[in-house]
Amino acid sequence: MSRSEIVANIERVQTLVAGAAARSGRPLEAVQIMAVTKTVQHGPILDAYHAGIRDFGENRVQEALPKIAEVQAGGRAKEARWHFIGTLQSNKARRVVETFATIHSVDRSDLAIVLEREAKNIGKNVAVYLEVNVAGEPSKSGFSPEDLLDVAPALVQFRRLQVLGLMTVAPLVQDPEEVRPVFRALHELRDTLRHKFGDRIGAGLSMGMSDDYVVAIEEGATVIRLGRAIFGARPAAPERNEVGL
Ligand SMILES: *Cc1c(COP(=O)(O)O)cnc(C)c1O
Repeated sequence: MSRSEIVANIERVQTLVAGAAARSGRPLEAVQIMAVTKTVQHGPILDAYHAGIRDFGENRVQEALPKIAEVQAGGRAKEARWHFIGTLQSNKARRVVETFATIHSVDRSDLAIVLEREAKNIGKNVAVYLEVNVAGEPSKSGFSPEDLLDVAPALVQFRRLQVLGLMTVAPLVQDPEEVRPVFRALHELRDTLRHKFGDRIGAGLSMGMSDDYVVAIEEGATVIRLGRAIFGARPAAPERNEVGL
């Protein structure tokens, strides 16, 4: 993708985001656009940064750490915020807490326990989204809605974990309208949790990807995670560890 193609993609996304946000009664700024940069090299990432993107998502620690260093070499892209969106093994939790602004993929209680401990060791707080497998797909990670309601009383006790909200990866479908109920269910689960726990569960909804972000915003998304809509199709082969596989 050339720089001008990336800029055009971002402009098109912003137009669609603004329209969908307006339909849900919110301004463009109420929806954070995260550029998902897995398999994308530092050049196009910097193009997106210069086009105004500040939030970037990566799903593999080994790929992300050297790339982040390269993007930010020599004081470049100082305002970039990095979000971890992939399956996180406990033994990599420390590196992720050190490097990333938020973790969108807290999908099990033992990971929350490890993150709390690592954050305490490092002396910082860690901002997280709790990942929910709304549609109950066996291939996907995330709490079931029922399990999340069960463990939430324990999770909100963690002092270093700041729960910004809930996250989901919707099923792959032909027509994005088919996943509207998934987004609506995540929104309702968030409301249920906030009714019980107040602000200890944040109001964030990290939902919507390249094929379904317009519908997700209409259903209340506060963060959308876009890879292909900004950077074009990814190479087919090296998608190790992608959520859902
Ligand atoms: C890859 C990925 C995305 C972005 O996917 P696109 O379909 O390219 O927009 C979003 N969220 C997660 C968790 C991902 O792994």
